[in-house]
Amino acid sequence: MEHVNITTPAFIDLHSVSKHYRQHHAIDSLDLSINKGESLALIGHNGAGKTTLLKLILGLTLPDAGSIKVNGLVPSQTSDRKKIAFLPEIVSFPASMTGRELITFYARLKGCKQSECNRLLNLVGLTDAASRKVGTYSKGMRQRLGLAQTLLGKPDLILLDEPTSGLDPSLRKQFYNILEDCKSAGTTILISSHALSEIETKTDRIAILKQGRLVIHGTLDELRNAADLSVQIRVSTQSGQTSIIIDTLEPETSYRKYNDHCIEFDCHRDDKLRVLQNISKIPSGIVDIEILPPRLDDLYIHFAGEENDESLNPQLTNPRS
Ligand code: ATP
Repeated sequence: MEHVNITTPAFIDLHSVSKHYRQHHAIDSLDLSINKGESLALIGHNGAGKTTLLKLILGLTLPDAGSIKVNGLVPSQTSDRKKIAFLPEIVSFPASMTGRELITFYARLKGCKQSECNRLLNLVGLTDAASRKVGTYSKGMRQRLGLAQTLLGKPDLILLDEPTSGLDPSLRKQFYNILEDCKSAGTTILISSHALSEIETKTDRIAILKQGRLVIHGTLDELRNAADLSVQIRVSTQSGQTSIIIDTLEPETSYRKYNDHCIEFDCHRDDKLRVLQNISKIPSGIVDIEILPPRLDDLYIHFAGEENDESLNPQLTNPRS
């Protein structure tokens, strides 16, 4: 029987995309695909090209070379933009309108019902403040109003530029819960962020940009495997007993002693079990052992740090290539 291979086309598909401003390459030969219902974090230094990439996907700016398709269409030629939502880094609304007036205004533009406005104001925790003028809102409240506006009309694609910069920790948690619900409903999400420790577990995949080029993209685990960085092992002992750990370490192992009962050292992933076995033979004095895999901050420095310019060759480092 003939095997028919049916592959679902990517929801966002960028092929050899370049964008330059005068001599400056803001985006340089970039290939990237994002599937429907997938979430991707876009990280990179200031000026790496994150916002430019979002603008290209939105069709707000045109590529100089390459092709971009969103849901099979060229973004700049799409007449129906209601299903694509964008939350910019700085949300600015007319100060003299109330939260409810504003969300109602945008709802009319998108053809949404008033009940949708009330639901979203409630979702972002602004029901009580909805009758206040936006000029009296805090930065975080404006950001939440922006999120409510973004979610109007249940978009298929949400692009967010530094979305949590004005939110306190509990609101950030709520914010990601809301996005998770959208994703479960099939929304594709792209988040540009500098908050690496926050974003590392919040998206399916992570893409690292450097000087307009895609250094690597993949899941956190794929990035960890590609980087092959050491894990950190942190051992807490009873007071004054860190030497029982130091004695088990190879002489060349450098360690960090934070106080008289906590020591931390790096260990290659392949040596982890052997090191833990050695520690487990210690009869007494150990209170706790933590194994800390490389964080996104470490991976980012590895792949995009100044010292690692050879990482700009994606063939070496891209687990999906
Ligand atoms: P940040 O993290 O600081 O927001 P970014 O990764 O979003 O940075 P972009 O805003 O995409 O970076 O900018 C990429 C490069 O393109 C930067 O060097 C920027 O100066 C340049 N650039 C962006 N927009 C324009 C423009 N309209 N005219 C000229 N240069 C621009």
